[in-house]
Amino acid sequence: MDSLLIKNAEVIVSCDEAGHVYRSCDILAEGQKITAIGPDLKAPGAKVVDGRGCYVYPGLINTHHHLLQAFSRNIPSIQNSELFDWLMYLYKVWVQVNPEYIYYSSMVAMAEFVKFGGTTMFDQHFAFPRSSSKEIIDRQFDAAGEIGLRFHAGRSCFTRGESKGGLPPDELVETVDEVLKDSERLVHKYHDAGEFSMRQVALAPCSPFSVDTDIMVESVKLARKLGVRSHTHLCETLDEERYCLEVYGKRPLAWAEECGFVGEDVWYAHGIHFTDGEVAFLAKTKTGVSHNPVSNMKLASGICKVPLMLNLGVPVGLAVDGSGSNDGSNLLADIRVCFLLHRLSSSTKAPTPLDCLKLATTGSASVLGRKDLGSLEVGKGADLFLLNMDKLDALGAMLDPASYLCTVGYGNYVDTTIVGGKVIYSEGRLLGIDEEAIKRSARKVVEGVYSKLPV
Ligand SMILES: [Zn+2]
Repeated sequence: MDSLLIKNAEVIVSCDEAGHVYRSCDILAEGQKITAIGPDLKAPGAKVVDGRGCYVYPGLINTHHHLLQAFSRNIPSIQNSELFDWLMYLYKVWVQVNPEYIYYSSMVAMAEFVKFGGTTMFDQHFAFPRSSSKEIIDRQFDAAGEIGLRFHAGRSCFTRGESKGGLPPDELVETVDEVLKDSERLVHKYHDAGEFSMRQVALAPCSPFSVDTDIMVESVKLARKLGVRSHTHLCETLDEERYCLEVYGKRPLAWAEECGFVGEDVWYAHGIHFTDGEVAFLAKTKTGVSHNPVSNMKLASGICKVPLMLNLGVPVGLAVDGSGSNDGSNLLADIRVCFLLHRLSSSTKAPTPLDCLKLATTGSASVLGRKDLGSLEVGKGADLFLLNMDKLDALGAMLDPASYLCTVGYGNYVDTTIVGGKVIYSEGRLLGIDEEAIKRSARKVVEGVYSKLPV
């Protein structure tokens, strides 16, 4: 079994229950698992990573992404749009998705995520053009496998197109049977429920204004039969709330509840416009929420009631949302924005800096159902990143390492990212990836997309 020894780390921020911050310690990983943390560990034959001058944090876990949006970022004509208008433009990009597009957009977004300390990613992929092969999520698994990232794929869909009063174009609409069949195929082919699994699948119909009640009911039923989790967008905007009241005659959460789409195996993206009573219902049912502060600010969607959710015990994880509303995949940046946003809106009742870091580590792990990940302690997966703090600009900012990422913030690529005891990013390079070749091919895909579309 391969082992890895991180030697003489200056600081280790564990994010464990007791909030341990170790100083001048080592971490030993045997296989994927952390087997010891302490001073002067010996491990003959282990690969050694020099931790001198470094802060070590648990790897970041993203609970909501749309990798296809790596190629729909920073578009001039929708810089000032809110969600519905923003989507109406972007559907024109997404009808062009095919397996090649998704492979390269995934490589681009995953590369950025890993370079900023990301180790586990959930993606919700909803664009399956009728003219394209269905083997799109398969290519995302290929990309994640090549990079060495833990990947949770969300098999999403649109079932309510323009002709039936939904938002997406009919070209992107699938039938309930098509969605369920492909969902089952993906679960059987890729889902590994075991400890330290690298590949999981969740079923994830897109949003109240792009799916119908049938798929919500059947999807969550199938997910429970197959033993996988369920996810959807909910309570993102007031436009969505008005849509639900008009079309379903009830608020978004009441509709999701009627569909059976609540419970400890379910988490929602955004969850901004819940009433206080609805937040209490989420806590009671242990339904999770993925908080996407940068996206919510960019699209002027609102502020999620994270302080109340944490007080009542709702499982909350952090996420970047799609690259199109972020406009990137840098979860390290979202941690700081999360802290500042809630300080501004809730002052002394805001989550502490350590609380915000835990949203992106242990919180996200619990939302994804990963008890084996999220903190640096014996028995957990060796997923982590190192920051070399032996730099002039870091001086004077070292008193509180557990808060550093929120208060001071870290704007550069991290120094090393490790997944399951394996170094996947170091010294500015993704290991085993020819970034130049990927860049050349990705550029061709992007040029092809925008040659057909005014920006
Ligand atoms: Zn989203």
